[in-house]
Amino acid sequence: MGPQQDGRSSTANGGTAARRKEAAAKQVVRYRECQRNHAASVGGHAVDGCREFMASSADGTAVALTCAACGCHRSFHRREVATATETAADCRDRASTTSG
Ligand SMILES: [Zn+2]
Repeated sequence: MGPQQDGRSSTANGGTAARRKEAAAKQVVRYRECQRNHAASVGGHAVDGCREFMASSADGTAVALTCAACGCHRSFHRREVATATETAADCRDRASTTSG
């Protein structure tokens, strides 16, 4: 029989389990209508009519921030943030009444 050595000392006291609640919602950023005023220099207001930003090249390159359609910088386009969790079922038809 040997002497019992009590060298096991566990000081694991205090169970503060701080769990971070991370949202799994993925945000998708889209750039819609171009809002660049081409007639700002003459005091007017005229946009090029670009409906949606299209990257000129792959993401990561320098020209990726330039719209392939109108040639404006991406910052001129209206920024729209949508969560991917929601299904994009918002395709409503607006009855446009043309006058003139
Ligand atoms: Zn533009």
